Amino acid sequence: MQTVTTLEQLRAARAGLAEPLGFVPTMGYLHEGHLALVRAAQGRCKSVIVSIFVNPAQFGPNEDLAKYPRDIPRDLALLDEAGVDLVWLPTPEMMYPPGFQTWVEVTDVSQPLEGAMRPGHFRGVATVVAKLFNAVGPDLAFFGQKDAQQVAVIRQMTLDLNFPLEVVVVPTAREADGLARSSRNVYLSEAERAQAPVLHRALQEAAAVYRDGERDAEVIRKALRAALATAALAEVQYVSCAHPRTLQELERIGPEGALLSMAVHFGKTRLIDNLVLEGH
Ligand code: AMP
Repeated sequence: MQTVTTLEQLRAARAGLAEPLGFVPTMGYLHEGHLALVRAAQGRCKSVIVSIFVNPAQFGPNEDLAKYPRDIPRDLALLDEAGVDLVWLPTPEMMYPPGFQTWVEVTDVSQPLEGAMRPGHFRGVATVVAKLFNAVGPDLAFFGQKDAQQVAVIRQMTLDLNFPLEVVVVPTAREADGLARSSRNVYLSEAERAQAPVLHRALQEAAAVYRDGERDAEVIRKALRAALATAALAEVQYVSCAHPRTLQELERIGPEGALLSMAVHFGKTRLIDNLVLEGH
């Protein structure tokens, strides 16, 4: 496995890789969710590039940029073991040099949900992913369903800016008790960790209400809230039953189905999760 930092090194190393080329962008502190993306990429591609970059532009002023967990030696060992061909470790200074002033803004689909709670977040995401796409030039790029709105934003950007690549979405990897794997799970105290599977349980319970025939979106949102209320340490920021493409809140769930999603605080830790209700 090769490891590179500068754009020149990246271009030279990329030139020697077999195509189709798969790309997995990450912020590091890797877990089974990231490795599921790597395996999906290996299943569809002849070579795989992973980037590790904690992107300052997607963190708000009161978010966890400085204390975001990092362990590059461990990440590199995991990627090497997984059989990744090339790892790119850009630095903040090279991604955002002094005088940087070009931003990518995906408008409508960035507005609700995470975008409403984290102003500027998706501008940071879209900008860095556009830069990563330009530098790597992948044929396929792999993203996790865990960050459903991020997928919607990247898909729209890829379409609008004519990136010649396919965006592939990989199912959410979970712990045995249902908690979605996340680099931020390490922040949870023992008591918080014990209650955190309530996000997945709430999604399952709301999905059961949907399967029983309920199509009133507010009833589904109430089912999510009721399930989350059973966890004393959970502070709900939002629950959503939205159109699966536009991400606008629904009154009724139609033939296109819905995206159920939520953000919940456990102490200082903010967890998100989601589930797609298939249409018919
Ligand atoms: P991050 O390092 O958190 O920016 O995540 C990098 C990529 O891994 C994104 O496409 C995430 O959606 C994806 N990812 C993170 N957690 C999971 C998970 N539990 N299951 C599947 N994909 C994930």
